[in-house]
Amino acid sequence: SKEVHLVARPVGEPRPEDFSVVETTVADPAPGQILVRNDWMSVDPYMRGRMNDVKSYVPPFKLGEVMEGGAVGTVVASESPEVPVGASVLHFQGWRQYALMDAERAKVVDTDAAPAQAYLGALGMVGLTAYAGLTAVAGLKEGDVVFVSGAAGAVGSLAGQIAKQLGASKVVGSAGGPEKKRRLVEEFGYDAAIDYREGDLEGQLAEAAPEGIDVYFDNVGGDHLRAAIQGMRVHGRAALCGAISSYNDTEPAPGPDNLGLLVGKRVKLQGFLVGDHGDLAPEYQKNAARWLAEGSLRTEETVVEGIDNAVDAFLGMMRGANTGKMLVRLPA
Ligand code: NDP
Repeated sequence: SKEVHLVARPVGEPRPEDFSVVETTVADPAPGQILVRNDWMSVDPYMRGRMNDVKSYVPPFKLGEVMEGGAVGTVVASESPEVPVGASVLHFQGWRQYALMDAERAKVVDTDAAPAQAYLGALGMVGLTAYAGLTAVAGLKEGDVVFVSGAAGAVGSLAGQIAKQLGASKVVGSAGGPEKKRRLVEEFGYDAAIDYREGDLEGQLAEAAPEGIDVYFDNVGGDHLRAAIQGMRVHGRAALCGAISSYNDTEPAPGPDNLGLLVGKRVKLQGFLVGDHGDLAPEYQKNAARWLAEGSLRTEETVVEGIDNAVDAFLGMMRGANTGKMLVRLPA
């Protein structure tokens, strides 16, 4: 079985040499354990933070050891009556072909309801992030004008569509490049789109939403947050989900220089972690199942094949090679 180790702590943008694909042997399950053949694994932006040796809400990856992350796979050997051979399970031992774990660390997923990899995306943490950010954090109301950055990515492509479903009057998205800009409007239901690589974010946002914005869903931080504050209406709310523009920075980036505007506009900025919003999962799952059945929620995936290309999938995602959720498929 192959697994991916972090062998050096990246400085700035990670390089392929910071990782190593290692051959290992996997033991048979002990009582209460299962052996899972991973079919899909997730690569996510927060993993970049875990590559640094700093204290955070998740501990750093250890050097010379296998990394971890979300994955779904098929149980190939079981010493647990609850999780039989053949079951599809969601768990946290990605970055490897085979995973041995206590059965209680795996969640059986319903592959009749949706393909297994959907539980790494729209039906999983990613979808709940978009939903919780818009509802519990930003307090989205009917008629709101919404701006989403990172709008063609996993969270962002869902956030725009969910905002529309929840009654937003207009949704503006920002992504990198003309092709993504086109897809935001033609495929993900955005009313207007911005290609941030063209610059003048503030001007582009003002053109797309001359009336101003009520809600900002921030995946990017930096200049995007500055432009959103500039474009906020009175009583605007921003859900700070991530700040991917700074994840490879070696020095802290300066904050937006227009925070003074928050006072007069009575704007609220709030960071959040999806892990705190598990209580919303049943409500979100119910809504998502309905939107998927109606065909009103488009779930996009970018698929990279094989464990040997998993690092490239991660590096590519950090640079925008994906539209929708970046996934690695591991052939049986
Ligand atoms: P994405 O699928 O959005 O992939 C990352 C995207 O970031 C790329 O596709 C790229 O798109 C964009 N990007 C990279 N560099 C820059 C840059 N300098 N400026 C603008 N855009 C950039 O990832 P996810 O949907 O998984 O995550 C999106 C955000 O949500 C991240 O910030 C992540 O950390 C955060 N997150 C937070 C959670 C929480 O609980 N708070 C949970 C899950 C995710 P492009 O081609 O448009 O540049």
